[in-house]
Amino acid sequence: MPSGKTHDRVTVWLTPWVGLGAMLVTERWLYTSLVVMGFVFAGFMFGPDLDIHSVQTKRWGRMGWLWWPYRRRVRHRSWLSHGFLAGSIGRCLYLLVAILLLILFGLQITNTAGHTTVTWNDLGRMTGQILVDYWRLWVAIAIGIELGAMSHYTADEWVSSWKRARRSAVPKKRRSRKRRRR
Ligand SMILES: [Zn+2]
Repeated sequence: MPSGKTHDRVTVWLTPWVGLGAMLVTERWLYTSLVVMGFVFAGFMFGPDLDIHSVQTKRWGRMGWLWWPYRRRVRHRSWLSHGFLAGSIGRCLYLLVAILLLILFGLQITNTAGHTTVTWNDLGRMTGQILVDYWRLWVAIAIGIELGAMSHYTADEWVSSWKRARRSAVPKKRRSRKRRRR
């Protein structure tokens, strides 16, 4: 498995290319910047390695506890965190639910104190509205996030298969050296 630093480097190297690709496809600065933002966000702190106590988890700082249940439930490098689309969809839903729960908790306090009168239904309706009205922007961010995750698990795969190949090559070399000595 590559280190956090290697994953960071991959993100830095690929960011301009992702930006270029997004610009060629969308021809719009707004969508391009959202794809790039999603890519960088996924590369540095919203990637598959949130399933362990990684650099990505540490970057959430004081909000790192948010990912504790995720870490407990999702096995490292399973399809739930490192799978194509499934990993990103799972993390997006997880974050959405976590944010909604936090808002609900805050609203419960302000409702009880008599400062607001927002119900669960209101919150659900508002969230749905925001998701539907700005769907293009969310799709651009989601594509960026999935590209970031893809760069991560592809690097994981490459490094793992390179290590496997090296491990199986080393004994062969030793064997041939022994033969030569004989
Ligand atoms: Zn990983």
